[in-house]
Amino acid sequence: MTRAISLHDVSKTYSSKGTRVVDRLSLDIAPGEFLVLLGPSGCGKSTVLRMIAGLEEITEGQLLLDGEYANDLPPAGRDMAMVFQNFALYPNMTSRDNIGFPLRIESPGVDPGGRVDATARMLGIEDLLDRFPGQLSGGERQRVAMGRAIARHPSAFLMDEPLSNLDAKLRNHLRAEISQLTRELGVTTVYVTHDQSEAMSLGDRVAVLRSGVLQQVGTPRAVYALPRNVFVAAFIGTPRINLLRGLVRAPLGGAMTISLGKQFLRLPEPLSLDHQMLRVQQGREVIVGLRSEAVRIAKPAAARPGEVPITGLVEHLEFQGHEVLVHFNTGSQPAVVPDLEAPRPAGRPDRRRRRDSTVLDRLRERAVALRAGSVGVLERPIGTTAAPELAPATEPRLPGDLVVRTTPDIQLRHGMQVPLLVDLAHLFVFDQDGDRICPAPDHVPDLEE
Ligand code: ADP
Repeated sequence: MTRAISLHDVSKTYSSKGTRVVDRLSLDIAPGEFLVLLGPSGCGKSTVLRMIAGLEEITEGQLLLDGEYANDLPPAGRDMAMVFQNFALYPNMTSRDNIGFPLRIESPGVDPGGRVDATARMLGIEDLLDRFPGQLSGGERQRVAMGRAIARHPSAFLMDEPLSNLDAKLRNHLRAEISQLTRELGVTTVYVTHDQSEAMSLGDRVAVLRSGVLQQVGTPRAVYALPRNVFVAAFIGTPRINLLRGLVRAPLGGAMTISLGKQFLRLPEPLSLDHQMLRVQQGREVIVGLRSEAVRIAKPAAARPGEVPITGLVEHLEFQGHEVLVHFNTGSQPAVVPDLEAPRPAGRPDRRRRRDSTVLDRLRERAVALRAGSVGVLERPIGTTAAPELAPATEPRLPGDLVVRTTPDIQLRHGMQVPLLVDLAHLFVFDQDGDRICPAPDHVPDLEE
């Protein structure tokens, strides 16, 4: 019923001279797993999904379904159901006929009524079965579209941003429903989204893509707590991680510090294993990553072990009800990972019509064309010049270089100088290529050897 999906070094190039929009992707998706493909628009997520569905040719590499080579298997032979962003219901069919349609195609002459009713019960849409799509709200239409996928009892669901056309409240609601349904059904699901909070709340594992290259795959907890590089760190988590340009100073016989422009973090002695890894960066620029929970407002005297003091000038306050996000100016330079969400300019290179493309396929192409985007690398390696990078125009920055969460009862005003404590246990440090140095990589060499 449910199946394993494996991609081995899979690449996709659209034209003979074109660049790879998916570049040697390897992923093993276990039977029954809910895997989310996450990345900014244009990074190749839909292309991967379409290659799994058989709607797009695989240029290089292998797709295995339950261990069997499947590159050339026609879409119908793959027994997978797709759910799209744009619902793609037939406007002249009732919900009942929309849900039953694929069943009638699969088994002509067999009345799909029983399965349609059972599916409608599961989704709580029995009352909508006799309505046409034009008589349904966006959320109801998406439920019918889900029903059409579920009724087929496929061995895998492929979902391409199925909730992005819905308003925020409905999105959260349907997100929970999708999660519950797919788990109940135990069917392997590959879910594409550019929304990190959706990915984190849905996925058993999340695979982060950037420019067609897999950056990291892991549980939501792992990609948040141990991002492999600065791109993953910046893409995952709200508010976005604070990324500051730092300089490691490790004088002989003196305390090791990371200078952050006008202030510095003094690393406590004896150095932890993690901080020892920084010694080789002496004199080099690094990127310091501090999630908002790594910094708290408190006086130096209140420091717990592992916390070091800095100060910040309040520049902006964002009241969120249950908490306040405080934007501080600490005199440091933000490090920028540009274009994390930049929309692509209108128009797209020669879209090839495949002979086997279906109506759904073409609808999908149109939807994708409206929302693709590109991904940038670090604007330029830090440390090459002294001039700070300004944030690109595509990512308007709020004031301040450090965002900290606090409770609404703390009274703060613009222009206040506030004492802060940085918890070094939550310190991320990335090298100039953006790779994580601290916390140390998974396999820390045994320094005793
Ligand atoms: P995502 O789903 O992450 O937004 P896509 O997989 O849709 O990204 O697209 C990845 C890249 O491939 C984009 O740069 C896009 O312009 C390009 N692309 C997608 N489809 C085609 C096509 N049919 N012809 C040429 N380029 C394409």
